[in-house]
Amino acid sequence: MNEGRVYLVGAGPGDPELLTLRGLRLLRNADVVVHDRLIDMRLLDHCRPDVELVDAGKFPGGRGQTQANISELLIERAGEGKRVVRLKGGDPFIFGRGGEEAEALRNARIPYEISPGVTSAVAVPAYAGIPLTHRDHASGFTVITGNVALGRPEMDTDWSAVARMPGTLVILMGWSRAEEIVSALIAAGKPRDTPAAIVSRGATADQKSVSGRLDGIVISAERAGLGAPAVIVVGEVARLHERLNWYEELPLFGRRIMVTRSRTQASVLSARLAELGAYPVEIPTIEIRTLEDFTELDSYLRKLSEFDWVAFTSANAVSAVCGRLMETGMDMRAFHPVKVAAVGRATSSELLNRGVRADLMPDRATSNGLASALVEYGVGGKRILLPRSDIATTQFPDSLRSNGAIVSEVEAYRTVTPDGAITALREAICQGVDAITFTSSSTVTNLLRLLDHDVSLLSGVTVACIGPVTAATASSYGLKVDIVSRVAATYSLADAIAEHFTGQ
Ligand code: SAH
Repeated sequence: MNEGRVYLVGAGPGDPELLTLRGLRLLRNADVVVHDRLIDMRLLDHCRPDVELVDAGKFPGGRGQTQANISELLIERAGEGKRVVRLKGGDPFIFGRGGEEAEALRNARIPYEISPGVTSAVAVPAYAGIPLTHRDHASGFTVITGNVALGRPEMDTDWSAVARMPGTLVILMGWSRAEEIVSALIAAGKPRDTPAAIVSRGATADQKSVSGRLDGIVISAERAGLGAPAVIVVGEVARLHERLNWYEELPLFGRRIMVTRSRTQASVLSARLAELGAYPVEIPTIEIRTLEDFTELDSYLRKLSEFDWVAFTSANAVSAVCGRLMETGMDMRAFHPVKVAAVGRATSSELLNRGVRADLMPDRATSNGLASALVEYGVGGKRILLPRSDIATTQFPDSLRSNGAIVSEVEAYRTVTPDGAITALREAICQGVDAITFTSSSTVTNLLRLLDHDVSLLSGVTVACIGPVTAATASSYGLKVDIVSRVAATYSLADAIAEHFTGQ
């Protein structure tokens, strides 16, 4: 049996991509994850589906959120032989009470490891364009907590020592006492005009930052609507904020954009949107499932050579068909006697990944585009196999048939509504979304089904569609389409959204 073990893992602050590779590996393998309240929930998508998730802020069974209870739970689960990840914001050893947890584990003779994280002390200023050291401005930095009992005599000495430290001063947990901290620093000798900055909810879509003189920084921050959690930076380097505030200047910074795709497909668009500074809110509206009964598909796969064409209208269809070929002891040579058509780049590259080069791909990556391209090639009397999902529309095969083709449609995969999708969708809408993306007609259909066809829930939300067919579907449900990307591809959709919001 595996020996239980606890990993104290730093998640980094805000941006879920600030997790380290080691942290990622540990999360993926964890049996139990005990996480802080403040971490980005998208981090938990890396976990195994059967993982036990415990919010350390909301303990089950009425146990309050005390440090002793958390340590006890870690010890209990590891004692059961489980791999336990204790996931903490930033770095576990920087004001994270990771030290106490490690001591408790050590006392209980539970094996443990530390996976350091990117601390907010460094990363949050970095996301606001403030380098903590700089050849011209600061040769070191000091990190302190602002969550101290001000007015306690021993703290006064500390502040005067802190005020005399050369280099940059970084204060965590200081927002609620920011005014007192600034007064204490000034009283202890920090010049009132020392450059300072405050960054709240750093490395998230809600990041806000201000910079200016130390004596006015708290008022500026309050006026600008900053709040906890925040990092306070005092020192010459704070001046650079004005010029280097790169993150808040990203084209889609602060925009919450809903991505409606199947879980497995969403990541490409989400990743591109995140690159442009957006907060992608992934709503799994469709889940691709394998067939329950392969009899019909298998019989078509065995007689592929009787067809002139196989037309793939999605990458999912390619995975389903090619996957099944392999499972049934055949391989890509089965395509040898037929021509292969792909609707667009994602589909043709899925084919290429499996060693099949598409013979035909339309300029316009839509099923209409594919129909036109096939018709232009000549489909009269040709036998075309169309592997498709259980909910595909008949438009595509109908238009081929009306041009004389003999089309056989076969279900290659199923699409189902994923568990929890409705709750996730309603929560996301409540929290506010700036735009919603549709990457196929089926994503529109599925989303509207989740909303019980109540389009009013999406009023005020910008609607972005990957192409004209998807846009037509959206319009047919009564949605006002604001954006249609120039090329029906995810990168183009993301760019069109960026252009829409920046007005460029
Ligand atoms: N272990 C954490 C710090 C925990 S103390 C780390 O290494 O980052 C919590 C304090 O961290 C907050 O009061 C705030 O000062 C800071 N903090 C954490 N995340 C932050 C964020 N996204 N933006 C601004 N400050 C943050």
